Amino acid sequence: MVRTRFAPSPTGYLHIGGARTALYCWLYARKTKGTFILRIEDTDLERSTQESVQAILDGMAWLNLDYDEGPFYQTKRFDRYHDVIQQMLAEGKAYRCYCSKERLEALREAQMAKKEKPRYDGLCRHRAETGEGSFCVRFKNPTEGVVEFDDLVRGKLTFANTELDDLIIARTDGTPTYNFTVVVDDLDMKITHVIRGDDHINNTPRQINILRALGGTPPLYAHLPMILGSDGKRLSKRHGAVGVMQYREEGFLPEALLNYLVRLGWSHGDQEIFSLDELIQYFEIEDINRAPAAFNPEKLLWLNQHYIKTSDPAHVAKELVWHMDKLGIDTSNGPALVDVIRAQGERTKTLREMAERSRYFYDDVVLGEETKVHFPAELMPALSMVRDRLAALPEWTKEAIHEALVSTAEAQGLKLGKIAPAVRVAMTGGTVSPPIDVTILLIGRDRVIERLNKVVF
Ligand code: GLU
Repeated sequence: MVRTRFAPSPTGYLHIGGARTALYCWLYARKTKGTFILRIEDTDLERSTQESVQAILDGMAWLNLDYDEGPFYQTKRFDRYHDVIQQMLAEGKAYRCYCSKERLEALREAQMAKKEKPRYDGLCRHRAETGEGSFCVRFKNPTEGVVEFDDLVRGKLTFANTELDDLIIARTDGTPTYNFTVVVDDLDMKITHVIRGDDHINNTPRQINILRALGGTPPLYAHLPMILGSDGKRLSKRHGAVGVMQYREEGFLPEALLNYLVRLGWSHGDQEIFSLDELIQYFEIEDINRAPAAFNPEKLLWLNQHYIKTSDPAHVAKELVWHMDKLGIDTSNGPALVDVIRAQGERTKTLREMAERSRYFYDDVVLGEETKVHFPAELMPALSMVRDRLAALPEWTKEAIHEALVSTAEAQGLKLGKIAPAVRVAMTGGTVSPPIDVTILLIGRDRVIERLNKVVF
């Protein structure tokens, strides 16, 4: 049974790279009918915050990446880590190291001066008697041989044990360290596939050694390629890369972001647009690219527009209402959101834009001085006729509204193109909106008449 885990450290937002890792772990579990686990790696007490934990949970929920087990918090598992450390000490798989900071610093400097890689020299590993004062606990890394694993993305990777020193697994204050807790958890949680960013590749041989010392069989590893910004450097805040929830704020649909994320480092032929079912069906770890992926905001926008246009409007409405609420627009008083989405879908790339451009369906329109030019005296007879014909329509339909506009233009000897822009400004306060008949239809008769009354003199 496949068991994957997403194991973020809550030291910031759930960023693009993290969300992609979570998605791949989730997809692989769903594809194989396995189990997806969420584990919060919060042992770095100084850098972990509750706010970040919440941002991760919110991001996962918004993206609909549901987990079958967890969230597990490493800070709740200190007793377990402590027990394993005691057991390793008792079995001689780890040892207490009494070396002072000063000694380690001097050692480091001497190694650097000789152009050697800084590493612990194993003094306490060979110490016969117990030392004095505070100590940390180090893992007895094998001193010879190699650690080899078949990375599912990178292929076979080999590391010489002589390159790895004796890793600290418990600090002097007794708290366990990162590489150690990951191993205990991956073992306890029976993880079969570790899918994570390739910034962890150098941790993997160390983790495999500890895992074996604990009698475990290493899981399979898949290290994901980095994501680059447009300048070819690792994607970071400098590129405007932000937390997943910021994408919500900016008006992206979760499925657009997921579709975008999946393609950052994975492909299935030339296909760009995938339903979730297709993803679950097609996703294979072997198809993850080795080469880094470049972040392309244009493509994300393009996908977003695609999903806005093609998704069920009732589904889009659930997300749009969130934006409307944020803008303080009360959508209970006006047209159904699904109709607004149908009218606006063609012309908006984001839901925030759609929300901002849909205020006039619900709120009064305030016409500024600059709009006066749209209402010259010679248009008044036409505008008042439009108003009267709309007021008298037996049926409030798009066709009837259209007919009222066309017949007014005819009666007044004007082109529709002369009247419609003025009506549009009166209705919306601006010059951009869906087709005028649809706009009028959705605003509703009472408001339409009220707005025309304001400009007719
Ligand atoms: N907590 C690590 C991170 O956020 C991930 C560890 C792992 O996946 O093994 O980078």
